[in-house]
Amino acid sequence: MHDIKTVVITGASRGIGKAMAQMFAQKGYSVLINFNKSEKEAKDLYHHLKNEGCSVKIFKADISKRNEVDSMIEFCVKEFGTIDVLINNAGISQEKLFTDLTDEDWDQMMNINLKSVFYCTQKALKYMISKKKGKIINISSIWGMIGGSCEVHYSAAKAGIIGLTKALAKELGPSNIQINCIAPGVIQTDMLNPYNENELKVLIEDTPLMRLGRPFDIASCAYFLASDHADFITGQIISPNGGFVI
Ligand code: NAP
Repeated sequence: MHDIKTVVITGASRGIGKAMAQMFAQKGYSVLINFNKSEKEAKDLYHHLKNEGCSVKIFKADISKRNEVDSMIEFCVKEFGTIDVLINNAGISQEKLFTDLTDEDWDQMMNINLKSVFYCTQKALKYMISKKKGKIINISSIWGMIGGSCEVHYSAAKAGIIGLTKALAKELGPSNIQINCIAPGVIQTDMLNPYNENELKVLIEDTPLMRLGRPFDIASCAYFLASDHADFITGQIISPNGGFVI
């Protein structure tokens, strides 16, 4: 029987997650598209990929809530039979002075960007560890590596993902599960909406490859990490950033 791999992609309604869903589905994976607020975008993507003959499902879940995450992974296993790859992609950003951050700002940032990785990964491992096979890809950010001014809580959450990835890689190695992290540079998605034209120009000028990243650039990296070609790679932080951070 043909061995179709399954992937759960959190936050796949827009931006980087959407590009990943398209790439994985078009290359033959069964894809669970997770969304929270963008129902129309998720449904449009689902219908588009379905019409192309791809194997896709959608599932609404707020990944900062454990019960919703559990239902999402259980849905994947029920519909597709298993979970081979988990991509922890969903996230939010917020620009604010550190001195202005409220408890709510801090908690929301940590819950959506970091605690969700704990929830999704723990649930997926219930299936992966027993099979002694699985791949987990966490989406961090260059700001988690080098720190971003006015994005301290975002940077802290993204740095937390890097620490989680490294530590868990050591724990999961004997179970033949690879866990890696992608730390994108500046990528053209809705997340850049708060930047004005001049700020984007400066970011491009500071990038040796002289352009912003595309969601496709990050999807390509995730596709490689999910593949058998990356079987000896674990605990690594790969940063597609056009040379912005070297
Ligand atoms: P985006 O276009 O704003 O998309 C964010 C995605 O996350 C949406 O699909 C959104 O779904 C989902 N999401 C947010 N909160 C959620 C929740 N509570 N539960 C489920 N899904 C949720 O952002 P993006 O640029 O594609 O970002 C994707 C990832 O890359 C994020 O982790 C981000 O931090 C990281 N990243 C982005 C950049 C960049 O420059 N764009 C750079 C470095 C890292 P709904 O709309 O359906 O709620």
